[in-house]
Amino acid sequence: MYPQEVLEQLKKYIPPSKIKTNEPMKDHTSFKIGGPADIMVFPSSIEEIVATVEICKQNSCPYFIMGNGTNLLVSDSGYRGVIVKTAANMKDCSIDGERVYGQAGILLSTLSKNVIEAGLEGFEFAHGIPGTLGGAVAMNAGAYGGEIKDVLKWARLLTPEGDIKTYSNSRLKLGYRSSLVQAEGLIVLDCELVFKKGDRKQIDERIREYTQLRKSKQPLHLPSAGSIFKRPEGYYAGKLIEQAGLRGKRIGDAQVSELHCGFIVNVGNATAQDVISLINYVKDEVRDKFGVELQPEIKVVGDMGRIKV
Ligand SMILES: Cc1cc2nc3c(=O)[nH]c(=O)nc-3n(C[C@H](O)[C@H](O)[C@H](O)COP(=O)(O)OP(=O)(O)OC[C@H]3O[C@@H](n4cnc5c(N)ncnc54)[C@H](O)[C@@H]3O)c2cc1C
Repeated sequence: MYPQEVLEQLKKYIPPSKIKTNEPMKDHTSFKIGGPADIMVFPSSIEEIVATVEICKQNSCPYFIMGNGTNLLVSDSGYRGVIVKTAANMKDCSIDGERVYGQAGILLSTLSKNVIEAGLEGFEFAHGIPGTLGGAVAMNAGAYGGEIKDVLKWARLLTPEGDIKTYSNSRLKLGYRSSLVQAEGLIVLDCELVFKKGDRKQIDERIREYTQLRKSKQPLHLPSAGSIFKRPEGYYAGKLIEQAGLRGKRIGDAQVSELHCGFIVNVGNATAQDVISLINYVKDEVRDKFGVELQPEIKVVGDMGRIKV
């Protein structure tokens, strides 16, 4: 069986403390959903990521790169292969004037604190997004009129062919929750962001305002993966779902949030199947009522059986 061979080979390059087997993915996702991953690796260097991916490829073993698991829905049966989680150990950052360097696994909240303390403005939008820098580049994460595309200078990437390359912002084709990283299966290793000197009082004021908005409008007290659908052109997904009469709609322990209909929340022990069934139900209702096709923003990991998002 490949996991055992893969495990033996991984142990030659990666300390055992950074490898887990049969690891429950619900402990690594903001949804608190997901069965066991065969193997989970917590690399602390670019070399360890490269070695892990190389070993997986040599053994035809599936692998998946994750940040902080805040945009993921992982199958109830888990993942047959290797999950590479950057959020634990790949979190170096440094600031030189207006230039900010960060490794893929640093949390946006931590990075934004450092950026603010350096008196730099332009990263306030990212403060409340619970993911990592690598995940934010992959998703071109954004909020309150800002997005990663506005501040990214370059990203260093591992290509599917095993090369390490540095791509400029424009080459990464950052669009609305899309990027070349997703399209080509690139792995973000580290990045440089650029900001401007700003007025500390105004920066703090904007952070307060955005934090307040999030607290009042988002169900932060319940597990979720943020907005479940992308914003359809000309509409807001949450508004359409609300107008379709689906506020609070529940399948199993997955529920359309009472507070923000664009979120699906886990109100107890929701399964991935509960969430998928609810997504499909919402999609059908919104399509029937308004003729709008909602597209999921979340990424589905592992085998979901016959049910398709
Ligand atoms: C309460 C809440 C609020 C949220 N608010 C926002 C918001 O305002 N704006 C917003 O845009 N999002 C928001 N999100 C969604 C989520 O936080 C973002 O999509 C975030 O960018 C995901 O980062 P992550 O590290 O958690 O990635 P993960 O969820 O771990 O992965 C997401 C995708 O990124 C890929 N990925 C992760 N790391 C890398 C890497 N190093 N290299 C290549 N690919 C990688 C994964 O393969 C996967 O396809 C919210 C989520 C929650 C739970």
